[in-house]
Amino acid sequence: MFPDITKRFPYVIRTILLMTKYIFVTGGVVSSVGKGITVASIGTLLKSRGLTVSVQKLDPYLNVDPGTMSPYQHGEVFVTKDGAETDLDLGNYERFIDTELTADSNITSGQIYSAVIAKERRGDFLGGTIQVIPHLTTEIKDRFKKLAANSGADVILVEVGGTVGDIEGQPFLEAIRQMRNDVGRDNVLYIHVTLLPYIGSTKELKTKPTQHSVNELRRMGIQPDVIVCRADYPISEGIRDKISLFCDVERKAVVPLPTVSSIYEVPLVLEAEGIGNLLVDRLGLKAAVPDLTAWQHMVSCHSQSCEEVNIAVVGKYIELEDAYYSVRESLRHAGLSHNRRINLSWVHSEELEKNNDVEAQLRNVQGVVVPGGFGIRGIEGMIKTARYARENNIPYLGLCLGMQIMVIEFARLVLKSNKPNSTEFDLETPYPVIDLLPEQRSVAGKGGTMRLGNYTCHMQPGTRAAEAYGQDACVVLERHRHRFEFNNDYRKQLGEAGLIYSGLSPDGRLVEICELRDHTWMLGCQFHPEFGSRPNRPHPLFNGFIGAAAKVLREGSQPVLPIFAEQPDFGSQQSGLSGQHE
Ligand code: GLN
Repeated sequence: MFPDITKRFPYVIRTILLMTKYIFVTGGVVSSVGKGITVASIGTLLKSRGLTVSVQKLDPYLNVDPGTMSPYQHGEVFVTKDGAETDLDLGNYERFIDTELTADSNITSGQIYSAVIAKERRGDFLGGTIQVIPHLTTEIKDRFKKLAANSGADVILVEVGGTVGDIEGQPFLEAIRQMRNDVGRDNVLYIHVTLLPYIGSTKELKTKPTQHSVNELRRMGIQPDVIVCRADYPISEGIRDKISLFCDVERKAVVPLPTVSSIYEVPLVLEAEGIGNLLVDRLGLKAAVPDLTAWQHMVSCHSQSCEEVNIAVVGKYIELEDAYYSVRESLRHAGLSHNRRINLSWVHSEELEKNNDVEAQLRNVQGVVVPGGFGIRGIEGMIKTARYARENNIPYLGLCLGMQIMVIEFARLVLKSNKPNSTEFDLETPYPVIDLLPEQRSVAGKGGTMRLGNYTCHMQPGTRAAEAYGQDACVVLERHRHRFEFNNDYRKQLGEAGLIYSGLSPDGRLVEICELRDHTWMLGCQFHPEFGSRPNRPHPLFNGFIGAAAKVLREGSQPVLPIFAEQPDFGSQQSGLSGQHE
């Protein structure tokens, strides 16, 4: 709104001048009730009113970022364009609000403590005792104000991770309480998202846990302005009245949010309950009439029954679908644009490795995706998958590790040996077709040290990749997260055998996309296109892949049943050469 202001002054002054509004969202009762989707949906509603919005996720854990955590602990690690490894909620924010976020949007307790301790060592607080209040809380509040100043957004939405009452979360709650005084009461609003559990024997939803969590919040000095009630069953007027009375929240500010079939319906449900207008009124925002036409259209396509396309994702973390959150969503987006419902099956690569039942698992699929990953577990199962796709002319999309797998499999065919490998999995291989990036050889630390964030990729004309991106897209920016790459020693030999290098780094040194010449659509990319897909604008590579898969005719249309390996022993896992947690 005030572009010149956002550049000229230090961010503390800029924040005051911009008069940014802050909405803080806390969670009560249990985690995983959809707080992130609620925040993302509120962002959609504000944006549909012509307001600019930026979002921040506060994670109370002590890791600096989730990049070093096992996907089983944390789910997907979402990468921002500037190379921050962040919480998967940022993916939903980007998809719902259609705004690219940066490292400013994910704050962890680890970052806050590290920053304060670094300042103490530097002597910034000489003479003082360093305390949670005011040192940690000031550091946290500065991050809110920095995002406000850097983004210039009308509204900053801040999601506090975890649930109210968690020990680690307390400095964050104290900081959001203090913000009322810092920026003025009229500029701050608190939303509490809770769960109403259903008691089967009495067939009723219970409000008591919500009352308790609101009490817990009040104990921290925060009275919620709005309560969003999640439930698996319809929420009666009586329940709303009760919550309004006991929690001291206006009746219309008790907003029911029953479970819906698609996350993309949530903004429409919340809009119908009036939350958009309520927030605009309470914060005194100058907003336009909401325009949700495009979103409504997208949701109606989503719910229309249409032909299915059977896609298998072959990975090693499939016990936890959240590990592939953006991949799943990207497939859905591409399905929408082809008017196809994605019938997704999750196949465990470790099971494929042990058994020779690739045909049984993939017989009916029209396309396979091999997503990203780290460490040797399940790798041979993925290689079998790539071989199956190549030999049977089944569309294949390899994402980061999936591209490396495709190269290893093709090299085994061309070099007539089962030895070609990545040095991540076999240091002694005589054919290291995938090897460490030169700049990675001297890297010792594991946190935030991979090739991360946006890099430019030059498309090679006449390739399937170029066709997928469209004629005009000669140069694209894509997000990376890897240490290994295609080894150029094999470029000539594999190229002559039919591997096409369809995307290269600007200096031509790094293979960013490759595809098979003698195949209907077999393509791998060294980056993660899943981070760039939007419900209304699928990523070109996912779009091209689903377009190719939809043309494949296979016997029967029954979904392939997923097979689940036994739960791995999380404690005993050793990180591989890549140093990331398997
Ligand atoms: N482990 C591989 C590498 O580090 C692939 C990483 C990924 O799939 N994100 O290069």
